[in-house]
Amino acid sequence: MKQITTDFVLAASVLRDGGVIGLPTETVYGLAARVDHETAIGRVFAIKQRPLSHPLIVHAYGVEQCDEWGVLSPIAQVLAQAFWPGPLTILVHRTSQISDQITGGRDTVALRVPEHALARQLIQELGVPVVAPSANRFGRVSPTTAQHVLRDLGDEVDLILDGGVCTIGVESTIIDCTSDTPQLLRPGALTATHITQVTGLVVSPATGPSRSAGMLEHHYAPQCRVELFENNETAQAALLRVRESGQRGSIIDYGSDVVTYAHLLYHDLRECDNDGIDVALCVLPPHDGLGTAIRDRLLKAASG
Ligand code: AMP
Ligand code: MG
Repeated sequence: MKQITTDFVLAASVLRDGGVIGLPTETVYGLAARVDHETAIGRVFAIKQRPLSHPLIVHAYGVEQCDEWGVLSPIAQVLAQAFWPGPLTILVHRTSQISDQITGGRDTVALRVPEHALARQLIQELGVPVVAPSANRFGRVSPTTAQHVLRDLGDEVDLILDGGVCTIGVESTIIDCTSDTPQLLRPGALTATHITQVTGLVVSPATGPSRSAGMLEHHYAPQCRVELFENNETAQAALLRVRESGQRGSIIDYGSDVVTYAHLLYHDLRECDNDGIDVALCVLPPHDGLGTAIRDRLLKAASG
């Protein structure tokens, strides 16, 4: 039986020795390895079956741990000051210290300081940052509990640090700070509107070629089919048709309660697969705040 523990000192010693662990954060669970351990990071890619060109997010204890790996522009510093620790990933130019393995050979690095208490204790105990992509196979549904990590990757990780259910439930907001205007690469719990309210910085939509796996068209997908609806009535009508065709459907709808929707979305998609559901009929939340992030994940889960 794989060890699930709340012992962050033990988890840090596993990482120190080149291990790979399941790591709780406030967004989703990560698959963590030391930022400076090539073999362990190689295992992260192998376990996730992630293409080597898809870069990893570096998770640090604080902004002072970031200078070694990335060059924080003035905009990046404003965002870090305002929102770290928290569900914000900042894309900046890299230093020569960070490996191509982590950046996918790009000239940028993604940095985050998570807020989850156990994650912070672990990184502090370890003394160096960790890389931590979501602890799921590439393209599939992210985990939001230690049990999800156990079920998906239990045979391949060395230990799972159990920090309970992720409070937010969807991945971090990613902001590209490498130009004069911050650009939103992936929506998350920290919204562009809130960033503007707090800092006065206007966040633009991402332009140019895709720079982030979060910008892929197909991602976050369960085994079952995902269909999207603008309201509950159309979803109910579709459910009847699904049943008439001899298939099993399940409606996911939290109305305008986007906090609960984000918190339970990945859990519910996973339950559909566990229950042998053929199609998840998801009602799209309102198009603002956290709803934007949920719609983004649902659109990607439904495509392809
Ligand atoms: P995850 O695997 O869920 O942690 O997602 C990490 C996200 O951060 C992906 O969308 C990556 O493509 C993105 N990312 C990490 N590092 C970089 C980078 N240097 N440039 C662009 N995107 C990055
Ligand atoms: Mg992911």
